[in-house]
Amino acid sequence: MEERYDLLVIGAGPGGYVAAIKAAKLGMKTAVIENREVGGTCLNRGCVPAKAMLHAAKLYQEVLSGERFGIISKEVSCDYGKVMSYKNETSESLRLGVEQLLKGNKIDRIHGTGTLTKDGTVRVKTEEGEELLQAKHILLATGSKPAILPIEGIRLPGVMTSDELFQLDHVPESLIIIGGGVIGVEFATVFASFGSKVTLLEAEERLLPGLDKEISQNLKLILKKRGVDIHTKAFVRKIEKEGKDFICTYGEMAKDKEKIEVIKTPYLLSATGRIPNTDGLFEEGTSLEMNRGRIVVKENFETSMPGVFAIGDVIGGIQLAHAASSQGICAVELMNGVEPSIDLSVIPSCVYTDPEIACVGITEEEAKGKGIETITGKTLTHANCKSFITKEERGFVKVVTDKETGALLGAQMMCARATDMIGEMGTAITNKLTAEQLLKAMRAHPTYNESVGEALEDCIGGAIHAL
Ligand code: FAD
Repeated sequence: MEERYDLLVIGAGPGGYVAAIKAAKLGMKTAVIENREVGGTCLNRGCVPAKAMLHAAKLYQEVLSGERFGIISKEVSCDYGKVMSYKNETSESLRLGVEQLLKGNKIDRIHGTGTLTKDGTVRVKTEEGEELLQAKHILLATGSKPAILPIEGIRLPGVMTSDELFQLDHVPESLIIIGGGVIGVEFATVFASFGSKVTLLEAEERLLPGLDKEISQNLKLILKKRGVDIHTKAFVRKIEKEGKDFICTYGEMAKDKEKIEVIKTPYLLSATGRIPNTDGLFEEGTSLEMNRGRIVVKENFETSMPGVFAIGDVIGGIQLAHAASSQGICAVELMNGVEPSIDLSVIPSCVYTDPEIACVGITEEEAKGKGIETITGKTLTHANCKSFITKEERGFVKVVTDKETGALLGAQMMCARATDMIGEMGTAITNKLTAEQLLKAMRAHPTYNESVGEALEDCIGGAIHAL
């Protein structure tokens, strides 16, 4: 069989399409097989549509509260159909951009489903038929799909995952969200802003259980203030259908006793994480080393089958678009004997609630667990001039440094533009910069970024705008 490609990528999400472009730039003859739209979950059913909805929701709230700034707008309303059109057009334009990039880099875009055979070739099923393709390297980037917990009634017709919620054509009067992770709290923010009565049920004792405790506490207060009914340590027991409504029975732990509660709503979202997607990826008899549904890879992203690599959500770990893209770039560099250009150990993590949340590196608590002595600097952002002007919600910036070396180890922020400001912190951690080195650079006034400076100053014992 003819070896037609240097690299054959299965899946054109942010992992797969970025890897393909990198490969083409390094001179590899590359093809991408995708059975849906390019851009994957991120561009079509994830980051992009969710952030478009969050943007519209924030704008709606800002207009409604414009009087604070002297802006009086009468009869403000939300045309949700138009919000959806804006969301869809945003994804579509970006998708076109990706298609053009693939074309411009002379990457073959194959519309079809790729299946890895046991002898290391790829069977592609397209509308025209089937074809067997061979390549020097194969990269599996098939992403993830919503995880469905084994709850009685969770598969009843009408129970939504994020995939279906994006298709909803109206604002639900009320909505139960099962899961207080990133997807759950972002959708709670969107629909509470548009006027839904949102109930959020989280089994752990706090929202966003993987992040800094202070962030979880503040977020709970802010969402409650916006009318979201939040129940933590709440385990959904069963879901039943009664007419148009779902009857959701859950047990809430209070003082070691479970109190059984029942709520009724026509709309229910299951947002309980995502699992790797390998549906139809392996031909019968093809065996790769797997661990709880994830494809196991070595440090160079090679699987247990020589020449077959995997990246992104399908290998588990941190399931984020930029992690998938960065892994894709490094995997391709390693295939070409090039030193990886990205430090994959420092991964910023962002939540686009209002205010935004962003973290990178380790928390004070995690450092303690690792036996590292730290100095933490913190500033409350209500004293920040720009936040004061724009009347932002109370927030904070925290930086964690190594007591011995002064190097930045981590940063946690909950404030306006946190998701943009976290970039500087990631650069600092990757390059082992100290608080003093970061403070050498002047910060423009008035900017939200001045809060980062204040937190760093606090670390070395002297925040200017604090008593
Ligand atoms: P995917 O994006 O899932 O792409 C995989 C692609 O492979 C898909 O297009 C699929 O159709 C295709 N495919 C699968 N099997 C085959 C096959 N056999 N043949 C051909 N094609 C196949 N991450 C962030 O970083 N920031 C965010 O703000 C963010 N928000 C999110 C919001 C939501 C609601 C969701 C659900 C996710 C969000 N994520 C976010 C996560 C992010 O979308 C994923 O981490 C990212 O898309 C993973 O990229 P990937 O390339 O590994 O896989």
